[in-house]
Amino acid sequence: MICNVGPTVARTHGIAHGEPMKSPMQIERVVIVGAGLSGLTAAYYLRERGIDPLLLDRAEVVGSSWRARHSQLSLNTHRSVSHLPGLKYPAKTSAFPKRDDVVRHLEDFARKHAFRISHGKDVTSIRHLDSRYEIEVGGNKVVADNVVVACGRDNKPGELDIEGLESFQGTRLHAAAFGDAKQYLGKGVLVVGGGNSGFDVVNHLSRVRTANVWLSVRSGSNILPKRLRGIAVHRFSPLMERLPIWASDAGIRIAERIAFGDLRKVGLPIPSIGAATRLRREQIAIPVDDGAIQSMKDGRTVVVAEILRIDGAKVYFADGRIEEPEYLIDATGYTSGLTIMLSELGILNCKGNPQFVEQNAAKQLPGLWFVGMKPSLVSYFDSASREARALASAIAQR
Ligand SMILES: Cc1cc2nc3c(=O)[nH]c(=O)nc-3n(C[C@H](O)[C@H](O)[C@H](O)COP(=O)(O)OP(=O)(O)OC[C@H]3O[C@@H](n4cnc5c(N)ncnc54)[C@H](O)[C@@H]3O)c2cc1C
Repeated sequence: MICNVGPTVARTHGIAHGEPMKSPMQIERVVIVGAGLSGLTAAYYLRERGIDPLLLDRAEVVGSSWRARHSQLSLNTHRSVSHLPGLKYPAKTSAFPKRDDVVRHLEDFARKHAFRISHGKDVTSIRHLDSRYEIEVGGNKVVADNVVVACGRDNKPGELDIEGLESFQGTRLHAAAFGDAKQYLGKGVLVVGGGNSGFDVVNHLSRVRTANVWLSVRSGSNILPKRLRGIAVHRFSPLMERLPIWASDAGIRIAERIAFGDLRKVGLPIPSIGAATRLRREQIAIPVDDGAIQSMKDGRTVVVAEILRIDGAKVYFADGRIEEPEYLIDATGYTSGLTIMLSELGILNCKGNPQFVEQNAAKQLPGLWFVGMKPSLVSYFDSASREARALASAIAQR
């Protein structure tokens, strides 16, 4: 079996990332697929246990997912709970670090720990062979006792399925390609999806002079203010996480009510379940307001029902409205993109996410682990740390 996966690129903006990949036929104890915040966190806790994993990442640099996000993006989660293990943000970083702060943070972490990262390695499949895993990378193979899949839950933009979508005469894009909010100056913009990404887009649009903005929502969700009377609400998330779920739901509902009053007045539907319950059950992150609700109250953003169909320039909504936006932004979410890579293992649900049997391991496939596939009330950084600590301990005992 050939284990040579080509030259070790191991460089990120001039940062050398540790050792070259091992020689052909070498069996790795742990391979981590993906060197984003989840993969780096897993590598950290494995090192703590004396295991030096090999990280494979298809990108040429650390932090590729964050680099690709729009430049105005800042975290919705507070910096005190949104950092990698043992590394804080520099003192002057804002309470909600900006995209570039996050990229620098990931780079600093990778540089500090000099992990064995092999860049430019697109993993196309993972197969289970006897007690090991065969990882296919650009026609070559790596064999490992353990594989940690850390490719990100928001790996691939989702795809809208609406009658007549192809006929849309305006510009259609995914929230992942939102770009600079200024490009929407004077334009009519339809944002599809009232979740986390939809609110992020409307938050940014609320700061430019667009023409009409419509937010198309199918169901309701509780919305958290980024700040309430000057206080960063998310600071309380570790406490919320410890409460019984009904109490977290109630806390979020109360914060929403104090911040915005009755959101039915701006047309937002009443949610059928609490936000914390929804996050745990359906793994849907809580939308965060940073200007969107005020733009609804001012009438600059209009909440509309779900889209029934599109015919050329016209968009028909379930509430009888017909509008002619120049832009349609799909903010209905992302998929993990794991379907092709893990197709042979039979462990994905219909949404393409792994079905965990125990913690973040697939019980029927010992040695296969996942990190970063579940959102939490606190942050992905926080949940990745918890998951990585547990899997590092379990791997060390194998
Ligand atoms: C718009 C947006 C805002 C967000 N805001 C927050 C926030 O405020 N707070 C928070 O906690 N979380 C937030 N998240 C969620 C989460 O923190 C990010 O998605 C984060 O990037 C997840 O880190 P990750 O390491 O799991 O995945 P990623 O950062 O996506 O990293 C995955 C890595 O795997 C690599 N990879 C993927 N597939 C392969 C393959 N087949 N072969 C080899 N390499 C591969 C990629 O190149 C990438 O480097 C946000 C997400 C989005 C989309």
